[in-house]
Amino acid sequence: PELINQIAAGEVIERPSSVVKELVENSLDAGATRIEVDIEQGGSRLIRIRDDGAGIAPDELALAVASHATSKIGSFDDLEHVASMGFRGEALASVSSVARFSLTSRARNQDTAFRIEVDGGKIQTARPAQHPQGTSVEVRDLFYNVPARRKFLRAERTEFAHIDDLLKSLALARRSVEFRLSNNGKPTRILKAARDDASTLQRVAEVMGDEFPAQSLHVDHAVAGLHLSGWVGLPTASRSQADSQYFYVNGRLVRDRIVAHAVRQAYADVLFHGRHPAFVLYLELDPAGVDVNVHPAKHEVRFREQRLVHDFLFRTLHEALAQTRA
Ligand code: ADP
Ligand code: MG
Repeated sequence: PELINQIAAGEVIERPSSVVKELVENSLDAGATRIEVDIEQGGSRLIRIRDDGAGIAPDELALAVASHATSKIGSFDDLEHVASMGFRGEALASVSSVARFSLTSRARNQDTAFRIEVDGGKIQTARPAQHPQGTSVEVRDLFYNVPARRKFLRAERTEFAHIDDLLKSLALARRSVEFRLSNNGKPTRILKAARDDASTLQRVAEVMGDEFPAQSLHVDHAVAGLHLSGWVGLPTASRSQADSQYFYVNGRLVRDRIVAHAVRQAYADVLFHGRHPAFVLYLELDPAGVDVNVHPAKHEVRFREQRLVHDFLFRTLHEALAQTRA
């Protein structure tokens, strides 16, 4: 199973930011309201995620790191209605097979926390530990036992930049969750939970740049089970904002050509020439109308009704942008 997990790890875990993604998504799935991410040496030395979520019951700790153990899908049918971010039950098994790993957790209604260590895939027995309600995961020396992978890690600042980008995109996806990021012991990003319009805009500004809220339009439109909301940068927006493009489908960051095409067309058609617009957009629809399991790590989705989604996006954005021409 160790080898199989390591192979699986190769698919899910490309670099430190992939580990951070899986772990933070687990924290979000556990209902965390506050998530701390501590990084050392670009994540190759340490990735530590602490959350205040529901925690893991003592007798489920070992199961959590076992291959294909997920508490999130009860039947094959559930696959069709995946609402939680994780659903493959292989992230912890994969990560713990290619690092020195520990999982410490105190579940709700438990007075004792437990800690389990996994060293290159070898699971140790769980022991009592100190921990507030929630979960901490430590991943040290990533790929220490897979030299071919470790060799491919880039410069520390490159890997950290990937992690920071990831955190920004998650911070926009879950605006009511507080995120804290630190690098080699220094806090680099504190994203306070957004509670009202003002703090929501503040969070958006923290990720998109201070000028973005003033240089964007708010969109909020729903038709026939499709709901689009968020902000689209005005064509007059400064250049520094280009390339900040966030599109979420049911809370998940997505890169999709149907979406990209609709957005591009809407801008091009109105008054946008040549530049990449900046936007933060959220599309909500019935989970049955979208397949998120196409390639979980690559942000791909497949809409059941591509044409409908495309036209809805195009029309909504076009109408909003066209107002600015007046
Ligand atoms: P998946 O998220 O696909 O279920 P993972 O390997 O990422 O698979 O996690 C395995 C299981 O461990 C989860 O289903 C969940 O029950 C538990 N778990 C992992 N991380 C956390 C966390 N931060 N808080 C609570 N439970 C967690
Ligand atoms: Mg997971």
